[in-house]
Amino acid sequence: MNKTSNLENILSKKPLIISGPCSAETREQLLDTAVQLKETGRVDILRAGIWKPRTKPGMFEGVGSKGLPWLQEASQLTGLPTTVEVATAKQVEEALRYKVSILWIGARTTVNPFSVQEVADALQGVNIPVLIKNPINPDLELWSGAVERISRAGISTIGLIHRGFSTFGETGYRNAPLWHLAVEMKLRHPSLLFITDPSHICGRRDIIPEVIQRAIDLNSDGLMIESHRDPTNAWSDAVQQVTPAALLTILEQIIWRKEDVNSPDYHAALDTLRQEINQYDEELLQLISRRMKVAEKIAQYKKENQITILQPGRWQEITRRVLQKSQELGLSQEFLTQFLDAIHMESIAHQKQVLDAAKK
Ligand code: PEP
Ligand code: MN
Repeated sequence: MNKTSNLENILSKKPLIISGPCSAETREQLLDTAVQLKETGRVDILRAGIWKPRTKPGMFEGVGSKGLPWLQEASQLTGLPTTVEVATAKQVEEALRYKVSILWIGARTTVNPFSVQEVADALQGVNIPVLIKNPINPDLELWSGAVERISRAGISTIGLIHRGFSTFGETGYRNAPLWHLAVEMKLRHPSLLFITDPSHICGRRDIIPEVIQRAIDLNSDGLMIESHRDPTNAWSDAVQQVTPAALLTILEQIIWRKEDVNSPDYHAALDTLRQEINQYDEELLQLISRRMKVAEKIAQYKKENQITILQPGRWQEITRRVLQKSQELGLSQEFLTQFLDAIHMESIAHQKQVLDAAKK
């Protein structure tokens, strides 16, 4: 088997586990961590940051190209393929020269179409898998745009890495996962490998297992987890890295869910329940449609009496009444608020149509 198809086989493994230090620091640190990761028997690909894009100058910016031979040595020693982050054409050239197996584009690069294009141009005619992290800001167009640029450069194996997003306010995470966006992106690109990076989502070790479980429950294809032989003394991201031994413990605790199972009973039960769901969806939409018709009738009266569409007092009363039932209904306040807001917006649009028609 040649090297490329061997790599394709590794990439099709599920769950695919990528691990290694945030940054390559010294030859010994990288080799020692790599060997320990190999010994877990669970790691498929070795990662290491060689060039580190930092938010502020003065922080550790990576060892640079001198770390690439160490990574090559770690790969030879363990038999594991390797991956590094690249952000410029020069870094792509260097990584290719030292036979890095897979490249990844970091969150701070995905935000910038100029940089992504520079990397894409450097990859013209090169056959190497590329993993693309989500941009720092929650913008799926930007993420998809990066996929398109890399794909147009002729790269056929592309993967997505969900590493969370920067959002306003305290979320308890370093980068809020915003799972709905991850799911949306997965649905937009169903053929691409979808990997979750719990380390950069969490920003701290203790909540990594629950984030991994959530990712696996949402059918993520794999994980990129930062691991270091001595996390607390790591030169970057010390709070979120785990030792190879801790990584193994975490992975052993996860409930790995299957996407499907070959059981007629299971499929029959699921079919029945899905039909029930379809039936409820149908009824729900019919009810909402009837509700809008009533709102249109109200608009007719408002028009005749020259009353504004928006009547905050009335809307507050509706919201309060519904939210009071949150517990009894088993529906979260957050969901009910979003649901009512959507109904309200649609209702206002219907009422506006009635009023506009009247003006003509
Ligand atoms: C990293 O993987 O070390 C890294 C810098 O990640 P991100 O681009 O997600 O911040
Ligand atoms: Mn990191």
